[in-house]
Amino acid sequence: MPTYEYECRRCGHVFERFQNITDEPVKRCPKCKGKVERLIGTGAGVIFKGSGFYSTDYRSDSYKNAAKQEKASATSKSNSTASGKTSDSSTQSKAGASAAPGKA
Ligand SMILES: [Zn+2]
Repeated sequence: MPTYEYECRRCGHVFERFQNITDEPVKRCPKCKGKVERLIGTGAGVIFKGSGFYSTDYRSDSYKNAAKQEKASATSKSNSTASGKTSDSSTQSKAGASAAPGKA
C-alpha cells in the first residue's frame, strides 16, 4: 500500500495518507476542510537517485565475485597435482620390491 502525500490548497497543510490504490483520494483538508492536491513525484525522485547508487554498487560487487572465482579455480588445480604425488610414491615401492629378487 503506497503512502500518498497531500497539500491543502487553502491553508497549505501537508499530510500523508496510507491508503490503497483503489481507495478514493483525499479531497478535503482535515484542518480547514479546503480542497487538497495530491503531491506526486517528490518521493519518486529520491527513489530514482537511490537506485542509481545501488546499480553502481552491484557492478563493483559482481566484479569482485568474478575475481574470487578465478582464484578458487586456481587452488583446485594445485590440489590435483598433490594427489598425483601420492600415487607416484606407491609405484616406487612396487619397483623396489621387484628389483630385489632380480639382483640376487
Ligand atoms: Zn487546509
